[in-house]
Amino acid sequence: MRRLWPASLAGRTALVLILGLMVVQAVGLTIHAFDRVELQRAAEARETAFRSFGLWRALVTAPPERRAAILAEAELPPTLTVTLDAASTLPPDLPHVPLHMSRMFRLDGLNLGLPHPPRRFRPADLQSGALSRNSFGVSMRFHDQGWLNLTIRVPSPRPWHSDNFLIAFVAMSLAAALMIWWAVRRLTRPVADLAAAAGRLGRDVNAPALPETGPREVATAAAAFNTMASNIRRFVADRTQMLAAISHDLRTPITRLRLRAEFLEDEEQRAKMLADLAEMEAMIASTLAFARDDAANEPAISVDLASLARTVLDEAADAEPERAAAITFEGPEHLTMQLRTVALKRALSNLVGNALKYGDAARLRLEQREKGAIMWIDDDGPGIPEASQEAVFQPFHRIEGSRNRETGGTGLGLTIARSILRAHGGEVGLLNREGGGLRVVVRLPG
Ligand code: ADP
Repeated sequence: MRRLWPASLAGRTALVLILGLMVVQAVGLTIHAFDRVELQRAAEARETAFRSFGLWRALVTAPPERRAAILAEAELPPTLTVTLDAASTLPPDLPHVPLHMSRMFRLDGLNLGLPHPPRRFRPADLQSGALSRNSFGVSMRFHDQGWLNLTIRVPSPRPWHSDNFLIAFVAMSLAAALMIWWAVRRLTRPVADLAAAAGRLGRDVNAPALPETGPREVATAAAAFNTMASNIRRFVADRTQMLAAISHDLRTPITRLRLRAEFLEDEEQRAKMLADLAEMEAMIASTLAFARDDAANEPAISVDLASLARTVLDEAADAEPERAAAITFEGPEHLTMQLRTVALKRALSNLVGNALKYGDAARLRLEQREKGAIMWIDDDGPGIPEASQEAVFQPFHRIEGSRNRETGGTGLGLTIARSILRAHGGEVGLLNREGGGLRVVVRLPG
C-alpha cells in the first residue's frame, strides 16, 4: 500500500483526483446504464403488448375453427410463445409479473380499442402471473370460448454488459487523467521551483532571484523568498565587513604595542611579548584574508576537481620535497564540476597542509558520486580526539598538543575550509582511522 502512495505532491494530488473522478464516473455511468435498461424494458414491454393484442384481435374476430391456422401463420418474436386453449385458465393469483409488463398489458388493453364484446378487458378476462424467474404468462379470454395463453420471456437486464460502458469509462478516465496530470504538474511546479531556489541559496547567497510572476500566491511566495534572500545577503555582507574592519583597526594598536615592547628592559619578557604580538598579527592577517576573499563573492565556474586536487598536492610536495613520497592522489583523471576555484583551492590547501603538518602525510582519494563528489584525505598523525572534532572547526581553536609542536598555525584553517565547503553546499567531517591517523571526509554536491 505504502509503495503505491506517490512521494511527490503532484503525484498524490493527481492520484486522489483521478481515483475520485473514476468513482464519480462509475456511478454516473451506472445511473445511465440503469436508465437505459429501464427504457429498453419499456420498449420491450410495449412491443410485446402490441404484438400480443394484435394477435388477440386477429384471433377474436376470426371464427374459432380458423384460429389455430391463423396462429400458426403469425410471425412472433422469439420471446413470445402462444398457445390456444379451449377451456382452461391459468391458475389464479400467480405472483410477480414484472411491473412494467403488467402495467403495459393493462394500459394497452384499455387503449387499443378492442372489438366488442368485450370492449374492455375486465379483470376476469385478462389473467397474468409469473411462470418462472424470467418468464410470465398472460391469458386473454375470447368472448365466445377459450383462452389465448401467452408465455413471455423477459431476459434479465445486464446494465454493464455493454461495450460502450467500458469504452466510455476508459476514454473518459484517460482524458481526465491526462488533464489532471497536466494541471497538477503546473500547479505544483512553483513548489519545486521554490525548493530548488532554497537549495541554491544554501550553496550561494548570490544566487539569482526567483521570478515574481505567475498566480498571486506563487508570486507572493517568490517575493517573500527574494526578500529573505536579500536580507541574508546583506546580513552576511555586514558581518564580513565588520570582521574586516575590526581586524584592520586592531593592526594599529598592535604596531604601537610592538614599538613599546622594544623598550622593555627585561630581555625575556620582551621576546615573549613580541612573540605574542606576532601571533596576534598572524591571526589578524588570516582573518583579513578570509574576510577579503569571501567565498560567496566568487562566481562558480566549470572546474576539473581532479586536476585541482592534484595541483594542491603538487604544490604541497614542491614546498616539502622530502615528504613527496607521502603525498598521493587516487581518483579519476577528470571530474568536472561547478566550483569557486580560488576558494575551493584554499580549502583543500588548508586540509592537505594540516595533514602534512600534523600527520606527516597526505593521501587524497577522490570519487565521483551520483550527485557530486566525495574526497578523503588521510594522514599518519595522532588524529583528533572525538570530543574535539567539532571544536577544531571553531575560529582560533587549537588543540594543546599542536601548540606545543610549534606548528605555527592560527587556528583558522579548518574554520575557513568548512565555511568554503558549506558555501558550495558541501560538508566536511573528521574521523580517526582504525590504524591511527586522521581521515578528513569532504562531500561536494554536483
Ligand atoms: P591551525 O592548523 O592553524 O592550528 P586549523 O583550524 O587548521 O588551525 O586546525 C585546528 C586544530 O585542529 C589544529 O591546531 C590541530 O590541533 C588540529 N588538527 C587539524 N588538522 C589535524 C590533523 N590532520 N591531525 C591532527 N590534528 C589536526
